[in-house]
Amino acid sequence: MSKIIAIANQKGGVGKTTTSVNLAACLASLGKKVLLVDIDPQGNTTSGLGINKADVSNCIYDVLINEVHPNEAMVETSVPGLKVIPATIQLAGAEIELVPTISRELRLKKSLHMVKNQFDYILIDCPPSLGILTINSLTAADSVLIPIQCEYYALEGLSQLLNTVRLVQKHLNTTLQIEGVLLTMLDARTNLGIQVIEEVKKYFQQKVYQTIIPRNVRLSEAPSHGQAIITYDPRSKGAEVYLELAKEVIMYEQAAR
Ligand code: ADP
Ligand code: MG
Repeated sequence: MSKIIAIANQKGGVGKTTTSVNLAACLASLGKKVLLVDIDPQGNTTSGLGINKADVSNCIYDVLINEVHPNEAMVETSVPGLKVIPATIQLAGAEIELVPTISRELRLKKSLHMVKNQFDYILIDCPPSLGILTINSLTAADSVLIPIQCEYYALEGLSQLLNTVRLVQKHLNTTLQIEGVLLTMLDARTNLGIQVIEEVKKYFQQKVYQTIIPRNVRLSEAPSHGQAIITYDPRSKGAEVYLELAKEVIMYEQAAR
């Protein structure tokens, strides 16, 4: 059984990419076969895993637009068990190029279904918008993981995201579920963070992961070294919490079965 999880929130800077890279790497370190799909034209997941975009021959753009087989776009990473389909700036054109195409919302779903059984988990790092690339991701996914930054306007904009999820459920992917809500970048020194946690829990209830990701400098340093946190600094708090999150994700999947 494999599972496709989209990591989405149209707000930028909430921890989508950090969560995608590190959850994927931690799942792999726990023995799972993992594919991470970068579908953000900024390609932060791609560079964050040390992939030089200039060396990429096929990226997710080629999979979506030129119907390149996803196996032809996969790149190995330094984390055993983790492969990536990279994104380059080419992808910025895809939003427009997909508009006139037939079944444009289903492109990613069709591609990932060709390789789904090679993996235990496929994670998709979404761009900070609710455009066609995010719609493709939600349509391809079994579930959506929503990172929320522990800050004052945390819940702002979430109704838009949840509306989009409902529309996708209604028209494109009736079985799409909310995987979970992840609180990120908690600053333990302020009371504000605690208030936000309470507010988010009131709203999403048991959908909120027990693991909360604190602010951790090592997490923000790792991408500039082209590494996931578990290889960059395995003893850091950041490595510890993303490993906990990976265990939680696996546990929920086993419980659901
Ligand atoms: P998004 O993909 O949602 O835009 P990112 O994962 O890129 O968000 O995070 C935004 C910025 O915050 C990045 O510079 C990242 O390194 C940093 N960051 C993310 N999570 C943490 C954390 N837990 N502690 C410290 N810095 C973080
Ligand atoms: Mg990002």
